[in-house]
Amino acid sequence: MEKDSSSAVVCSDPMLVDAVDVVTVEIFPITVKWTGKEICVTTLPKTATVLQLKEFLYENTRVLPHRQKLMGAGKSFTDVVALGDVFKANQKIMMMGSPEEALAPILSTPPEDLSVFNDMIEQEKIEVPICAREEFLNKINRRVRDYQVETLDGFRHGKKLLVLDIDYTIFDNGSVGASGQDLMRPYLHEMLHIAYRNFDIVIWSATGKRYIHAKLHELGMKANCSAGHYKISAILDDSAMITVNCGSGSAKVKPLGLLWGKYPQFSEKNTLIVDDLRRNFLMNPKSGLRITQYRKAFENRDTDKELVKLAEYLEAIAMIDDFSSLNHRKWERVAQEHRRKLREQAHSSHPSSRRSTGSGSARDPPNNDNQ
Ligand SMILES: [Mg+2]
Repeated sequence: MEKDSSSAVVCSDPMLVDAVDVVTVEIFPITVKWTGKEICVTTLPKTATVLQLKEFLYENTRVLPHRQKLMGAGKSFTDVVALGDVFKANQKIMMMGSPEEALAPILSTPPEDLSVFNDMIEQEKIEVPICAREEFLNKINRRVRDYQVETLDGFRHGKKLLVLDIDYTIFDNGSVGASGQDLMRPYLHEMLHIAYRNFDIVIWSATGKRYIHAKLHELGMKANCSAGHYKISAILDDSAMITVNCGSGSAKVKPLGLLWGKYPQFSEKNTLIVDDLRRNFLMNPKSGLRITQYRKAFENRDTDKELVKLAEYLEAIAMIDDFSSLNHRKWERVAQEHRRKLREQAHSSHPSSRRSTGSGSARDPPNNDNQ
């Protein structure tokens, strides 16, 4: 019998052994992570098909097999192939998909529950600011000391730093598609290509590294890196985050101080973090750009231009020496102004198209934006 890490169930009752042939069933255990739960599959053999796995998962999740997206194989596969040809025994994989009865509520989920965040902001007004609390700074120091950043393509000299979230920022994690491309926010690769000219790019997602790699693969980011269109310097996962608490609220956040401690060339002067959850900026409120959530991919993928605007903003601020003087809440207006200036520059050689360029800039954005 082939030896691997899968287990076997053997009928060893001596009374039965005398009476019947020994029956051996080779079990191919797999753990499937779905919506924060882990489903241990310990009844299927390695010869079972992916579809059989999906049918098993349907019994446990009520997600229809055709809505299930299994990630983590590192290669594409169909429903008819054997589990043993796609996965390894005892492998942890990720499933995406929603049960039918849950689809409508998921799609109508409000963008962000800000109650915890608002509680903290209220506290911050009257006490020591959260980002200056000694206990949280100590947590960051421990992360600097203990956390292992996974370096992919490394960092370049003289570049600024863009820290980018995945779920609902560049990827609709709440919808089901045939591939990651279906759920990718439009213009992702174009934005990253433009950003890479002036920024090193770090991916920071509140999930495990295995799933981050799977998503980078599904979104085509690894292929674009291989093709040289841009590079990903490093990835950080949920274990790099810290929990901050204040009064009755608490939240896990992404402290940039971890990166600044690891890589002293970066600081609040040259770092921007982009995320759909503003609470992730609690330790670095001046460095965060909150982008609208990307949901309902199939409804919005033809009209969503957020990453086009982000690319324009990154271009607009790329030459600014100190980001700490910026107010990223005005980012859309700054991007719009940058776009207008580029258009005017393009037409400036034609005398009839010359006109005033106004005085707006990334450093001095208009004041009537109420985001
Ligand atoms: Mg997110």
